[in-house]
Order: sequence, then C-alpha cells, then structure tokens
Amino acid sequence: MLTFEKLYAEGHEEVVFFSDASCGLKAIVAINNTILGPALGGTRLWRYSDINEAITDVLRLSKGMTYKAAVSGLNLGGGKAVIIADPNEKSEALFRSYGRFLESLNGRYITAEDVNIGVEDIEHIFTETNNVCGVAKTHGGSGNPSPYTARGVFRGIEASLTKVYGDRSVKNKVVALQGAGSVGRNLGELLYKNGAKVLFTDINEKNIQAFKEAVPNAEFVSSDEIYDVNCDVYAPCALGATINDKTIDRLKCKIVAGAANNQLDETRHGEILRQKGILYAPDYLINAGGLMNVSIEFEGWSDSKATRMVDTIYDTTLKIFQISDEQDVPVHKATDMLAEARIESIRQIKGSYLGNIPHRFPGRKKRH
Ligand code: NAD
Repeated sequence: MLTFEKLYAEGHEEVVFFSDASCGLKAIVAINNTILGPALGGTRLWRYSDINEAITDVLRLSKGMTYKAAVSGLNLGGGKAVIIADPNEKSEALFRSYGRFLESLNGRYITAEDVNIGVEDIEHIFTETNNVCGVAKTHGGSGNPSPYTARGVFRGIEASLTKVYGDRSVKNKVVALQGAGSVGRNLGELLYKNGAKVLFTDINEKNIQAFKEAVPNAEFVSSDEIYDVNCDVYAPCALGATINDKTIDRLKCKIVAGAANNQLDETRHGEILRQKGILYAPDYLINAGGLMNVSIEFEGWSDSKATRMVDTIYDTTLKIFQISDEQDVPVHKATDMLAEARIESIRQIKGSYLGNIPHRFPGRKKRH
C-alpha cells in the first residue's frame, strides 16, 4: 500500500495516477527527486498483477534514476512511469491520452522508452507533449540508445582494466559476455575491434546468429557455463541479480562490468566480490550511456556530443574506485556516496540564491 511514510522514507516528491477508461489507460508516474533538474526516466508497460506491484516497481525504478543521473553528472532528476496493460493491447489512443496527461506535469517529468515501449509508441506521446525523449532521429530525436550504452560499458571495462592491470587496453583480454541482445552485440563488436577475445552466451537463437556475424572470433558457451569460464571480465548484459549465492563462488574473473541493471542480487554480494578480490564496476554508472544520449535531445542531439559525454564514464568509474579505496567501502556503496554528495551539494547552492526569485519576479520562470 502507498503511504506518505513510504514516500518520506525514500524521498519521493510526487506520485501521480492517470486514468482514462475510454482507452484503458492506467498509468502511474513517480517523481523521486528534482534537485538536479527535471525527472527523466522511461515508461515501462507491464501486465502487473495488481496496483501495489506497479507502485512498488515505479517507486524503486524512479529512485534508481535519481542516482543514475546524479552520478553521471547530468542535470536531471529521477523519475519513472509505469502503464498497467497487456503489451498486445497497445494503441495510439492509449499513448496519446498518456501524452496529454504528461503535458499537465509541465515538464517536471520527461519520459522515454523502457520495457514494452518502442519508438513508435514514443512518437504517439510526442504528438501530445514535448516532455518526451527517445524520439525517432527523423523527428530530431536521438534514435536507438543501445550503441551508446554499449560504448559506456566499454569505457567502464577499460577503467576496470586500468585499475586491475594498470593498462586500459582490452587487447588479448578475455571477456565472458552474457546476453547477445542490442547492447551485448554492440559491446561485442567494440571488444572484437579492439582485440579482445569474446566468450558469449544467449538463449535466443536469432540473437546468437546475429552476434556470431558481428563478432567473428566469438566463442559460444551454454547459458550455465558462462559463470565457470576463465576470463578477465564477466559482462552481464541480459538479466539483473546474476551475482548471487549460486553464482558468486563459480566466477573466475578479475572484473564484473556489464550493462544489466541491478547486477548484485543483494548489496552484501558487493562486499563478497570485494573480499574475493573481484572488482565490480558500478552498474548504474557504466550503463548510463543510453540515458546520456537521450538527455541531449533537448539541446539538439549530435553523435559527437553524445560520444563525448559517454566517454566521461571512464574517468568517473576510476573516481569511484578511488573513493572505494580511500573510504574502505565496496564499489556500489562508493557510487551511491558520489551520487548523494552531488545532489546534496546542489541542494545547498540552490537554497543560497534561488529561494525567493519566483515571488520577487512573478513573470519569470525557473529553469525547471
Ligand atoms: P535485449 O532484450 O536486446 O537483450 C537481452 C538479451 O539477453 C537477449 O538476447 C536475451 O535473449 C538474452 N537473455 C535473456 N535471458 C538470458 C539468459 N538467462 N542467459 C543468457 N541470455 C539471456 O536487451 P538490451 O537492450 O540489450 O539490454 C540488456 C541489459 O542492459 C538489460 O538488463 C537492460 O535493462 C540493460 N540496459 C539496457 C540499456 C539500453 O540502452 N538498451 C540501457 C541501460 C541498461
């Protein structure tokens, strides 16, 4: 059940329900934090079993976006939305109704693609509101984010190699890649082009074939075997929570660095990785390339801007490793600390000079 105590505890600012029986719209938007800027996060369409399941998901995801934007240096807050629906029952009317409601939030929340929402759905939302990104390139948007997510993960792998081996090059390093989907395939290509040896797994035959064509020297292993192979880097690019009690003792890598969200089943698994001498690259930072890519849509997207921004992941990852060492905390904790410190520092400066401006200058708007 949704309570104000729960919202206070996680710092959520606003939770909005949109309903439109004419098209079956049942949507929930959660705005977790707007200290750094408007809340940006995708909309997930899912067949939730009940409204409480949807609320739990949207609250958890929106808080995650606050941390992701903050640690990535973006001037964005964290928010997320869910639509309770059967993916087979998507319609233009549903997304246009949703877009009209989003417009009423006046830019405090900006949406984008997530599970079961594709660019064609985004286009319907875009008909009704500007507060959406991930729009098609033909309409001035940034297109598919996966190549940028993969580039960011590649930079995170390079930073991890620098920390462990004193050299960022992936040449002759062995990477065990789990998940040959959009991000996995793009990452595989980058690794191959830069001289790494790639072992990979997937459960989807079409994606396996496409991966083999894109990464000619890749060697396929079964989906269970991926945890047992000798490698330098284990790169989870399929599911979350693959670092768990069943897998952690099987890993023979020096580094865990991949695209999947929430790779640690529980936070204690981050501590165990550290004790085992396995370096964990912060998942929500190194997979932020896609978010960085969409974030520049409003100022005019270009490949060079997106690439330059994504490449900052290398330095930020190294900074987090340094905090982890200096403060003697696991990497996931150091990542949270950096995100929280940034939000807190900006909260302070806003308080010092923006406080009463809207009252003194009623005709002027704040930037967000
Ligand atoms: P995708 O659906 O294109 O690819 C996922 C792949 O994982 C599929 O090929 C699927 O068959 C495979 N898979 C599923 N279960 C598996 C299993 N048990 N063993 C092996 N393979 C399995 O998704 P994607 O867009 O490439 O995203 C990959 C991961 O990265 C996801 O966890 C996603 O949340 C995360 N992520 C993606 C982006 C992005 O820009 N696409 C951004 C941030 C995070």
